[in-house]
Amino acid sequence: MPSRATKIVATLGPASSEPALLEAMIRAGVNVVRLNFSHGKAQDHIDRARLVREAAARAGREVAIMADLQGPKIRVGKFADGKVMLEPGAKFVLDASRTEPGDLTGVGLDYKELPRDVKAGDVLLLNDGLIVLTVDSVQGEQVHTTVKLGGELSNNKGINKQGGGLTAPALTGKDMDDIKTAMSFQADYVAVSFPKNATDMEMARQLANVAAAQYNHKPGLIAKIERAEAIPRLEEILLASDGIMVARGDLAVEVGNAVVPALQKRMIKLARLHDKVVITATQMMESMITNPVPTRAEVSDVANAVLDGTDAVMLSAETAAGKYPLETVEEMAKICLAAETAEEFELDGDFSGQTFSRIDQSIAMGALFTAHHLNAKAIVALTDSGSTALWMSRHRVNIPIYAVTTKLSSQRKMALYRNVRPLLMDTSADRDTALVQAENHLKSRGIVSGGDIYAITCGEPMGAPGGTNMLKICRASD
Ligand code: PGA
Ligand code: MN
Repeated sequence: MPSRATKIVATLGPASSEPALLEAMIRAGVNVVRLNFSHGKAQDHIDRARLVREAAARAGREVAIMADLQGPKIRVGKFADGKVMLEPGAKFVLDASRTEPGDLTGVGLDYKELPRDVKAGDVLLLNDGLIVLTVDSVQGEQVHTTVKLGGELSNNKGINKQGGGLTAPALTGKDMDDIKTAMSFQADYVAVSFPKNATDMEMARQLANVAAAQYNHKPGLIAKIERAEAIPRLEEILLASDGIMVARGDLAVEVGNAVVPALQKRMIKLARLHDKVVITATQMMESMITNPVPTRAEVSDVANAVLDGTDAVMLSAETAAGKYPLETVEEMAKICLAAETAEEFELDGDFSGQTFSRIDQSIAMGALFTAHHLNAKAIVALTDSGSTALWMSRHRVNIPIYAVTTKLSSQRKMALYRNVRPLLMDTSADRDTALVQAENHLKSRGIVSGGDIYAITCGEPMGAPGGTNMLKICRASD
């Protein structure tokens, strides 16, 4: 039985914070734990990170931690009664200067810039698009609207503008503090919410690198694609990031539900083409928040993301606040494995038309090509930073890639890469010893047995970053 190639990101929350349950979820297949910085204080996140590291240690697996920043709060204020019921056709005023709690006539704004970002005729979507307001006029600090689609509006619900165009910067003061907190526990990934362009990501990168310098740590940066403006700038955002998240929740509100599936496919393809990772997120197993089994549509959604080529599928409220966090992870793992197993591979098509000018990258591609044609059982990449494994994993093969590294931070980062099984091993001895160690490992896990072919890439001399320059095709000894 092959092991699963697609990775699972699970959001930690009250429903999954019990240590034994979290451990069970990690055993069931969670590869990356997402800490949502929209909830809780710095110390809460530090405690949660420790909880994750301890549960992972007990489970004997390395998981990556992703710190997901809150980003700009484009939200309404609070109501006197906690909520109001908006009727279609009613007038409603969003007022940046309002200090008293809201009522049926209007509400204050957390996001004070709104009156300058909208004009008459604009459409505002509140509470994930469940409530729709059209802007009649902007009068000073007040945005006068008419309710198009009514419903219950409660405290601090989010606001999106159809088509995008809200000017809030991606990194708030709180995000900057949160980056420091995340670096204090060496979060493996930082996810930036609502980036509009490469500059937002570059700023996050700089802050993270400065905060992490004392630990000699460099986090991976994930751009959450959830703004209309980010779509035409996908390429520049990708180049400034280590990966992207197809953040379907906010994205669907801004660009419209119907175009999201095609965008998902495009984003996954483009990310892989640029040697970046990609996470598909939001509502993947939504009904499992309350039900013990997923819907047929959810099963198809997860499977299709796998077939699209995503590195990882993500769970949000399903594991943070749902009734069945463990069952959801188990179900998701099963769906991923079944979808991968059904996939057909055409490596040659994937390769044609691409050129690789770097020695290490060419070796990685050579390993992939050769292993595919020889029907190898495994590829072993001795890697320092994980780049060799990343390059290999951007192409579709059904040969598992075992990425052997001496660095814990690289091992954790690679937890997100599709089809990469990261292994921590001290290979600092001479090369021949390291190769024997690697083969022994594959044998002890039953991945290869006597006579099986596998490929190894490594560098000579060993341990130099970017130094991969050798490819060896081996036949396992008896
Ligand atoms: P969120 O991001 O869950 O932090 O809002 C994901 C999304 O918008 O899909
Ligand atoms: Mn979002």
